[in-house]
Amino acid sequence: MCPRIATDGIPGAAAFVPDAHSLAILQDAVQRCRGCTLYRNATQAVFGEMQASPANRNGAKAQIMMIGEQPGDREDKEGRPFVGPAGKLLDRCLKAGGIDRKEVYVTNAVKHFKWEPRGKLRIHKKPAASEVLACRPWLEAEIDAVCPRLIVCLGAVAAQGLLGTGFKVTKSHGTLQEAEGLPPIVATAHPASILRALKIEDRERQTASLIEDLRKAAAYRTSHAA
Ligand code: SF4
Repeated sequence: MCPRIATDGIPGAAAFVPDAHSLAILQDAVQRCRGCTLYRNATQAVFGEMQASPANRNGAKAQIMMIGEQPGDREDKEGRPFVGPAGKLLDRCLKAGGIDRKEVYVTNAVKHFKWEPRGKLRIHKKPAASEVLACRPWLEAEIDAVCPRLIVCLGAVAAQGLLGTGFKVTKSHGTLQEAEGLPPIVATAHPASILRALKIEDRERQTASLIEDLRKAAAYRTSHAA
């Protein structure tokens, strides 16, 4: 199931993932993961969740799982995924795309924040393929626990982690993909990459494309509802 990627000597998370794939157990255990070196410079591991009420964050009723790249600066501090500017844009796009935020379980391919200093700021640094691979056992355990009907990959890191390094989001976004042992997958842009676009017209065009991809995901979810 995993693509062939050099591990660069990184042990990976498998030895730290409990056998019991309850989200509460996983969320507790991920804080002790030393499967790669990213934990060293992060505040905490950021696991997935439902963004409903605190009592409803166990993902048990999630029909759609959304997978981003890694926590950002604010997520690292707060310990929750998609609570920063990219999360706000995702919220707006989900609403426009006809997806109820409460039915979505959001997580990341990599659970610790990778960054580099720039003055007093901590600037996002893209995780290496070997780090995505190292963290994959956590993602597989989450998929097993949540059992979503559809996975939406936000950005190339998540998409290539599940669909292989040859997958191009720019070329195949919004189309249903299959991967052995996984629910159907739709890939689209990561909202953070939209926010990084310099021109407002580019941000508007990419936002419209993200919404259109989410509409397609919503249509699939509706046509395959239980
Ligand atoms: S990024 Fe993933 S594999 Fe690396 S230490 Fe964190 S949880 Fe473990």
